[in-house]
Amino acid sequence: MSEDFYDALGVSRDASEEEITEAYREKVSEYHPDVSDEPNAEEKFKQIQKAKDVLTDDQKRQQYDQLGHERYEQAEKRGATGDNGGAGGMGGAGGMGGGNPFGGAGGAGGMGDIFEQFFGGGAGGGRGRQGPQAGRDLRTRLTIDLQDAHDGVEKQVTVRRPERCPDCDGAGHPPDADSRTCPDCDGQGQVTQVRQTPLGRVQQTQECSRCGGDGELHSETCSTCSGQGQISQQATLTVDVPAGIRSGQTLRMEREGAPGDSGAPNGDLLIEVDVDDHPDFERDGDDLHHRHAVSFPQAVFGADIEVPTLDGASAFDLEAGTQSGETFRLRGKGMPRLRRRGHGDLYVTVQVVTPDSLNDEQREALEQFAEAGGEEVDVEQGFFEKLKNSF
Ligand SMILES: [Zn+2]
Ligand SMILES: [Zn+2]
Repeated sequence: MSEDFYDALGVSRDASEEEITEAYREKVSEYHPDVSDEPNAEEKFKQIQKAKDVLTDDQKRQQYDQLGHERYEQAEKRGATGDNGGAGGMGGAGGMGGGNPFGGAGGAGGMGDIFEQFFGGGAGGGRGRQGPQAGRDLRTRLTIDLQDAHDGVEKQVTVRRPERCPDCDGAGHPPDADSRTCPDCDGQGQVTQVRQTPLGRVQQTQECSRCGGDGELHSETCSTCSGQGQISQQATLTVDVPAGIRSGQTLRMEREGAPGDSGAPNGDLLIEVDVDDHPDFERDGDDLHHRHAVSFPQAVFGADIEVPTLDGASAFDLEAGTQSGETFRLRGKGMPRLRRRGHGDLYVTVQVVTPDSLNDEQREALEQFAEAGGEEVDVEQGFFEKLKNSF
């Protein structure tokens, strides 16, 4: 169930239109599916948009306040709210969506449903009167590597999607096919049934099943699409992946989804992005972490070292006496911030590498080093064995 519109925007019930618009702007930047990490950002985003649409429209807000959230949403599904305008009423309980008149969607039962029937009837609307349907949104995934996520990249995505049949232009029959008026619906494309219920007569309007709502029957069916008006086709699209994108974020390509009914827009194509792990860097939001190996003498004496970054190698001044495990921050060497200025940081953790094999000269030098520091070296056990034992 969706959230109360006031709660969704985080405003009080007596908030002014300016307060609502302001709250909406803030929430939109938080939940925009292109930039938000929230797993249900898209849903939240839609909810916020809807909340703003309703609460900034005097008429809708009044209805919403009167009905409460749940009943408003149910009424809206039946096309009974201000959205459908005031097309003439059908009389009686004409706006019913179908099914058992007592079985409201939320199972509220009782007076609530009776109220909605009258409400629906008064405002007209209902099924079969909706305009052409917009196409569905389609989803796909895209995997990129961290370097591309850092730089931003153009990628090709290939999707199989329904497209309007080119041979009949979505009509489902050849343009020159003979047509006649559908006898089941007299060309209306919808049929109305009147049912007797304990509340009285209820009119129910449904799409005509014989002609599929066209109002016409045709002598021939388009062979390319078997009369569906759509065919499944492979499409390759170029998507602009912005720098700073993170795994799980979704890019929206408007109007690249499934085709809508004739005269209605296509749906969108939603591309969920996966960013592969990188061998050198671990990502933490816009920051990167890198472990860098240095030798014991480098750690002791200090050194000019080079650390890798996604912008190429970067010189780094390792201080004398650096301990293994110390972490340094390279400002601005992390990931770019998505659709904002600036970069995160790169954290370099120094790891002093202990050699696991020594030549004679090195062994001798290290023994001398140990002795000079007052350590007794038992050559049989070996310096490193002893060092290990002392921890
Ligand atoms: Zn066709
Ligand atoms: Zn018909």
